[in-house]
Amino acid sequence: MAELFYDDDADLSIIAGRKVAVIGYGSQGHAHALNLRDSGVDVRVGLREGSASRTKAENEGLRVLSVADAVKEADVVVVLAPDQAQRSVYRDEIAPNLAPGAALVFAHGFNIRFGYITPPAGVDVVMIAPKGPGHLVRREYVDGRGVPVIVAVEQDATGGAWALALSYAKAIGGLRAAGIKTTFTEETESDLFGEQAVLCGGVSQLIQYGFETLTEAGYQPEVAYFEVLHELKLIVDLINEGGIAKQRWSVSDTAEYGDYVSGPRVIDPSVKENMKAVLADIQSGAFAKRFIDDQDAGAPEFKALRAKGEAHPIEAVGRQLRKLFAWVKPSETDYVEGSAG
Ligand code: NDP
Ligand code: MG
Ligand code: MG
Repeated sequence: MAELFYDDDADLSIIAGRKVAVIGYGSQGHAHALNLRDSGVDVRVGLREGSASRTKAENEGLRVLSVADAVKEADVVVVLAPDQAQRSVYRDEIAPNLAPGAALVFAHGFNIRFGYITPPAGVDVVMIAPKGPGHLVRREYVDGRGVPVIVAVEQDATGGAWALALSYAKAIGGLRAAGIKTTFTEETESDLFGEQAVLCGGVSQLIQYGFETLTEAGYQPEVAYFEVLHELKLIVDLINEGGIAKQRWSVSDTAEYGDYVSGPRVIDPSVKENMKAVLADIQSGAFAKRFIDDQDAGAPEFKALRAKGEAHPIEAVGRQLRKLFAWVKPSETDYVEGSAG
């Protein structure tokens, strides 16, 4: 059984006694900075020159500095720039200004696990990874709850890294839900696998194939959209509440029987073999290298794949349909034709 932590297991005064620099003010950055501040922590935000995020942070009353100056002032540095930017930000602005005995905090183990960042021996290296998007991390905190976090220590130079990590997890609200103990390796590899094989990659491809199969057989695209995309949320909500079992309990017997006989036909054992191959590429670092090499070259493959995804017919049908749904809140991406935002 995994080791779990709650609010009572952590001492808020540890992080409240430190000076924290949050580098990046995006999805995770804004949530961490604001939750820390509201928990009584001394926080400043580090952003690059001309950053589009500066006004957002300043409008919240946060002090914004250059990354180098924020790191110089701090003894806890939270690295929340995008994964592909962390290596150069660390090399150029964090590492030269990092005090001995300071702590580096990550929300995902990518750069440490794959060797793009190698911290010096004298600093603590910890991870507090919320298992939800940053906007939820902030909203739950404001509502008095929290998003579960997973917590890891890669390097305990001071002997206080675990206590610091738990204190941080408490300050962002994570331990109101739960903290789960893990390692950088386990978090990084399982996170990449989950998003690639199931949550993002697997589900997106499954929806697209379902839509293509119905429309190629002559069914109306609007009807296909409802059956293979729109209803997914309702099903996922049931799975989230009570596992696959609750979903099967709630749907009709017809749907449940179809689940048993057709699910394994569609997702057959060859899919599991493919998943193992994906996992092997994650573990070997091949996926990380492909992603970072492409990013370093200006992301030609990434941009081409993104454009191809946006051009799939299901997106145009969905944009039209969602305008008609009184019960769906308009999505930002629906107003920017052909842009992922
Ligand atoms: P975002 O893409 O939302 O972060 C963007 C922020 O980083 C912006 O403030 C941006 O500022 C800043 N930034 C971009 N490039 C640089 C740079 N070169 N130097 C300094 N700042 C820069 O990132 P996420 O919040 O998605 O991810 C941050 C970390 O959290 C990652 O490790 C990710 O894996 C992890 N994580 C993310 C989750 C999520 O829900 N998104 C969930 C759990 C973990 P500017 O305005 O200058 O571009
Ligand atoms: Mg991830
Ligand atoms: Mg149906």
